Amino acid sequence: MNDWNIQSRAHLCGECGNGFEDKQAYRTILWSDEAEYARLDLCDACWEEKYQEGSARPDGFLSAWRGVYQAPPPAPPEAIQKETAEGLLRKLLELNDPVYLNASYILAVMLERKRVLKVKDEFREEGRRILVYEHPKNGDVFTIPDPELQLTELDVVQKQVADLMENGLPSDESQAEESGDAEVEIEDPESEETSEVPDPDHQPDRLESANV
Ligand SMILES: [Zn+2]
Repeated sequence: MNDWNIQSRAHLCGECGNGFEDKQAYRTILWSDEAEYARLDLCDACWEEKYQEGSARPDGFLSAWRGVYQAPPPAPPEAIQKETAEGLLRKLLELNDPVYLNASYILAVMLERKRVLKVKDEFREEGRRILVYEHPKNGDVFTIPDPELQLTELDVVQKQVADLMENGLPSDESQAEESGDAEVEIEDPESEETSEVPDPDHQPDRLESANV
């Protein structure tokens, strides 16, 4: 089960295909679909017709809630900064690396306190508590398992989060190092000398020292 997921809000009803309008109420259902969580956004009519409580729901049904659709802003959203808590959380969820499970949870709690994220629901799966966070502005849903951190672990995780926010993910750093190496090779002084060797009359001293 991959419970590291971002499920984005649809811009149209998953049943009838009608587009959502700004401020329109919609329903979301979340279910477990073998390898990952699946999400379906519905207009009220389709919800009442097919999915409301008491009707047949998908196998693995987990949660349902009501939301209000907000049309995306006309301008493209700002690029995500790697050092912001939200940008870092999105990167960690995409990486889906258990090493960052604790850090993701701490970031989600931080963002909940800042009211960037809201807890929509929680459920238990295979004995673990899974929290369903929603980003109210764009409707993205983050499903994050509660790592049940001990107080003694908090300090280490908070340091890990602070380090990630300051320096970014290790993969970002190695990319920067690679491009740095490429620049060094271009400026390599030895390759310049080699290119001057075919014209020895103008560089006698240098040729002599090279032959010693
Ligand atoms: Zn519909």
